[in-house]
Amino acid sequence: METYQPITPEIIEKLKAITGPSYVKTDKDILLQYQTDYETDPRRFHLPEAAVIPANAEEISQIVKLANEYHFPITVRSGGTSLADGAIPVCGGLVLCMERLNKIIELNEEGMYMTVEAGVRTVDLQKEAKAHGLLYAGDPSSAESCMIGANLATNAGGLKAVRYGVTRHQVYCLEMVTPTGDIVECGRILKKCSTGYDLEQLIIGSEGTLGIITKVTVKLIPLPPYRFDVLAVYTDPRKALYMVPKLLKAGIDPTSVEYMDNSYVRDTADYCHYSDMPHYEDGIYVIITVETFREDELDSKMESVCTICEESGAVDVLEADERIWNMRRNVQTSCEMVSKVFLTDDVVVPVHKIASTIEKIMEIGEDYPFQVKINAHIGDGNLHIVLCKMDMSDEEWETSVEKFHQQVYAYAYSVGGRLAGEHGIGAKKLKYMEEFTPKGELAIMKTIKRAMDPNNILNPGKLIDA
Ligand SMILES: Cc1cc2nc3c(=O)[nH]c(=O)nc-3n(C[C@H](O)[C@H](O)[C@H](O)COP(=O)(O)OP(=O)(O)OC[C@H]3O[C@@H](n4cnc5c(N)ncnc54)[C@H](O)[C@@H]3O)c2cc1C
Repeated sequence: METYQPITPEIIEKLKAITGPSYVKTDKDILLQYQTDYETDPRRFHLPEAAVIPANAEEISQIVKLANEYHFPITVRSGGTSLADGAIPVCGGLVLCMERLNKIIELNEEGMYMTVEAGVRTVDLQKEAKAHGLLYAGDPSSAESCMIGANLATNAGGLKAVRYGVTRHQVYCLEMVTPTGDIVECGRILKKCSTGYDLEQLIIGSEGTLGIITKVTVKLIPLPPYRFDVLAVYTDPRKALYMVPKLLKAGIDPTSVEYMDNSYVRDTADYCHYSDMPHYEDGIYVIITVETFREDELDSKMESVCTICEESGAVDVLEADERIWNMRRNVQTSCEMVSKVFLTDDVVVPVHKIASTIEKIMEIGEDYPFQVKINAHIGDGNLHIVLCKMDMSDEEWETSVEKFHQQVYAYAYSVGGRLAGEHGIGAKKLKYMEEFTPKGELAIMKTIKRAMDPNNILNPGKLIDA
């Protein structure tokens, strides 16, 4: 790993001159909160040398220039909900927090767009759009805690991606500070554009390695007034999974199609203190949401969804109330009840391969001592495999997780999949990125990183080994 200069008292003074002294933190007690994100394994935590909380792009630009001059690394941090160790300062150095860039700059109803600073919480952006009768369609389950700039950085998906796509599909343009400290705008508020490289799309999903996103203009769409949510309960996972292609081909255009295996049904019901959930003991939940602009369209689509679920072997088809969605939103946090240390995988495969992939992973999981739990955005081919360490020794955990990953990732790639559908690579999957990414693709990514960040200042140790 590359070596960097330590953050000296001289650098601290220069940082204080940029942001004001109260926005530079060096107390160990404060820095401890930045040593991890949603990582649960303390062996992967890393303490930064300092943290800084700038107010705007100009201050960030000066900080980045300082980092290049003195050669110390910067890890950008927004909400700290990364599931890929993305916000952990694995090379030490400076953590740069985005929380003060929290202004909503403009909501243009006629143009149907909203411009915000990158540290605006996703839920606040969603609420602002809704207050104007519009929809921001990005909807990660972590919306209450994560920030929009980081959603771009990770190209977050979420619960509405089947119909509306992921974060990159919601963005017109962005402003960023480049790895050498320039402030640059990429993209424009245009429906179409064929004027050179799509730089905003390159930055989206770059996980803070190619630029610090400071401002974002997102697309808004009309908010459909009608909606229904169905809970289809299955007891055979294959019947649940093989229903999906029929649903997607039926012209229903669902907003969400979510899958929770029975371990999740039980754990999330317990976590949320819901005592009377249907089929608690053996049910597998598939949650389907449909939204429409006309009431009669809603009725006919609801009828079709119920028929498809019943014909495919659902043991119960019910209306999904807010409790079901609350359970779905808490799949990740409910794991804390099961095991102090757990890890979440984020494999994505072509949608028509999701059923066979989940079957294969369940089969692979039977050979391992840890608990394997699966929830999935089954409508977009993205599955979350959670492994729970329980009381295994560190050595047994390490060895078996490594072996499990090798089998699962090899299978995913063999069917045309990739390591991460929405959480990114971070530090967690860096090694597998090197191993599984086709060589030509990896070489282009490294060339871009080296060209844009010649001193390897921004988020080193993440995404690619530059
Ligand atoms: C309970 C829970 C549910 C989740 N559900 C979903 C889900 O449904 N869909 C989904 O996609 N993800 C989900 N996640 C993962 C996570 O919330 C997303 O990856 C989210 O986009 C991270 O946002 P954050 O503000 O917490 O960023 P952080 O964790 O602070 O940072 C994430 C990464 O982005 C970089 N970064 C942060 N801000 C910037 C910036 N302004 N410019 C450049 N780089 C930046 C960081 O360096 C880091 O690499 C979930 C996580 C949890 C804990």
